[in-house]
Amino acid sequence: MATDAAVKTSNAGKLYLVASPIGNLQDISLRALEVLRQVDLVACEDTRHSLKLLNHYEISKPTLSLHDHNERQRTEGLLEKLNGGKNIAILSDAGTPLISDPGYIFVRAAVAAGIPVEAIPGPCALVQALVLGGLPVSPFTFMGFLPPKSAARRRHFESLKEVGHTLVFYESCHRIQKFLQEAFDTLGDRPVVLAREMTKKFEEIFRGPLSRAIQPDCLRSWKGEFVVLIGAAG
Ligand code: SAM
Repeated sequence: MATDAAVKTSNAGKLYLVASPIGNLQDISLRALEVLRQVDLVACEDTRHSLKLLNHYEISKPTLSLHDHNERQRTEGLLEKLNGGKNIAILSDAGTPLISDPGYIFVRAAVAAGIPVEAIPGPCALVQALVLGGLPVSPFTFMGFLPPKSAARRRHFESLKEVGHTLVFYESCHRIQKFLQEAFDTLGDRPVVLAREMTKKFEEIFRGPLSRAIQPDCLRSWKGEFVVLIGAAG
């Protein structure tokens, strides 16, 4: 168990960061379920979404929303609860909290306040894609979501031109084809992996050159969730 000189020995509760499935509800650890059963409160990115998971495992807990738009306001109240001895879990809609998801502001404040923080490991889409992709995994650079506007995205690609290892991106299905075209225009014809709907019924993995990935018939469907890996220039 992690120790930290700043951690209080008082009766403060614990903050748990609980990884949840990225598609298949069975991909949750026994320890994650145990923690969710034991905590006093579950702070969820989307309470309705997380209730599906909690109900599936017959876990009945008070929930509270914690998303990008209210995390700053919520943090103080949640710290008070932790200081008062309550145990709190953070649960994302999918995968590991803080990874392109809310939680960083709250965790930073909890650490600064000396509250014990424990992460319960589990699914994370970027790791799943790296493991499946067949491109070198070490080192890699995780970029998360690039900005939605084309010009800003192209600037990011330009700045990544000289990076000599695997780049990992999250992208929405609405922008994925534009994203690939812009990557091809700026980075050239590199190896790419499109990891679509991982762990779900329609999981599909494309491995090949960017020049093929920009063709509309490269995948069976362009719907759903995507992780994109782009390899170093040959
Ligand atoms: N916290 C999550 C994690 O640990 O991976 C990521 C949350 S981020 C808001 C959501 C993005 O993750 C999606 O837009 C997609 O890029 C990626 N993602 C999540 N689940 C996925 C899946 N089953 N298949 C492919 N990509 C997925």
